[in-house]
Amino acid sequence: MVELSAVDRMDRRRFGRALAGALGALAVPALRGAPGAGAQAAPAPQPAALRVDGDRLNRWLAELRQFGGTAAGGTHRPAYSDADVQARAWVRRTMEEAGLAVRVDAAGNIVGRREGRERALPPLLFGSHIDSVPDGGSYDGNLGSLGAIEVARTLKDRGVATRHPLEVVVWQNEEGGLVGSRIAAGEFPMQELDRVAVSGKTLRDGIALLGGDVARLDSARRARGSFAAYLELHIEQGGTLERERLDVGVVEGIVGIWQWTVTVDGFANHAGTTPMDQRRDALLSAARFVEMVNRVVRAEPGRQVGTVGQLRAEPGAPNVIPGRVVASLELRDLDAAKVHRLHERIVAEARAIGEAGGTTFTLAPITDHGPALTDPRMQRVVADAARALGLTSRVMPSGAGHDAQEMARLGPAGMIFVPSVGGISHSPREYTKPADCVNGANVLLHAVLAVDAAPPAANQ
Ligand SMILES: [Zn+2]
Repeated sequence: MVELSAVDRMDRRRFGRALAGALGALAVPALRGAPGAGAQAAPAPQPAALRVDGDRLNRWLAELRQFGGTAAGGTHRPAYSDADVQARAWVRRTMEEAGLAVRVDAAGNIVGRREGRERALPPLLFGSHIDSVPDGGSYDGNLGSLGAIEVARTLKDRGVATRHPLEVVVWQNEEGGLVGSRIAAGEFPMQELDRVAVSGKTLRDGIALLGGDVARLDSARRARGSFAAYLELHIEQGGTLERERLDVGVVEGIVGIWQWTVTVDGFANHAGTTPMDQRRDALLSAARFVEMVNRVVRAEPGRQVGTVGQLRAEPGAPNVIPGRVVASLELRDLDAAKVHRLHERIVAEARAIGEAGGTTFTLAPITDHGPALTDPRMQRVVADAARALGLTSRVMPSGAGHDAQEMARLGPAGMIFVPSVGGISHSPREYTKPADCVNGANVLLHAVLAVDAAPPAANQ
């Protein structure tokens, strides 16, 4: 641990210099032969002043909204829908105009590549997704995807060459379970191909529709160490940044999600003839369970959350004492040990509730997705980029899942959050102010340049 922290301190200094170095390195001449660079001696960009074209980014956001746009002002663009297919065609054109060589990998992810000055270096990845939940908003995924393309476009327009190749990735079907990024991470069981997506198509048919090839899914895998780093810009989807009046969130990790099916067994009996002191009411015990979960999760400091989101009483008649209840329990946090501790406490308290009420509790695990931590060096790159741009920031967890968590399995990953107005997301009312969209893209731009100057992988 001592050694690690020593390396850590070294990295901090190194990255401080790296950012300054990256800002200085922008004076490097344009990529030879790059389209648009031409023979004209374009003035070398003033690095510290290098910014994305914010008007263009916000215009793109409005254009992309047309595919699956709803009367309520949101976006309905589930993966593999007509709107998804049309939006992807538009995104591909926009990528090509940004000077990217575009391909669709076997998983159906769109990848736009820009060569670097040093061909032997692994690519630097950044991007997000453009599919939406049903009747969702117009920023979730869109901002990170278009922000990434805007970064590439800015580098092209300003004639800035990077050392690393850059790859802008638009992952397919993020909202349906991180499908494209899990395939890339080698975390996708083949039997899942037969699962039916929101659009009504199976993943197998959907991938084919997008131009992928299920017979070659392995070719879409990214090996550990095959990219220099991964960065993703995203709206916060919560209200922390807005409440604290901060510009940027430096994501420390994506919380783990643990879910259980909770079955409470009592005894179904006549609601009219069974005295109150002789009942084994499963729903009454379940009600105490719901209250207890909330109390236990709140009992210790931290940002952990716990939810009972489902409750079904059987037989479910007004005149029958419920004999069985099937409920759910979900716990989320960045710290797996804390979640296990909370779970043990909940199980112990559930047992006591059962003993007092003549019922029994059974908790069966459904999902166990461990937390994905971003790379501390990537956190510093993002924080330093925000500071250099005069933006305020804080370190924070992500309570929602993102493609970045899959890339974090394979290499150094970082995420940039910008404020969601009212903390609203997955809703037509999802909104991020144009200036915040631009701030996020600028942080992404400078984070990309800093990592390009000094990739974290070089230290490993
Ligand atoms: Zn998203």
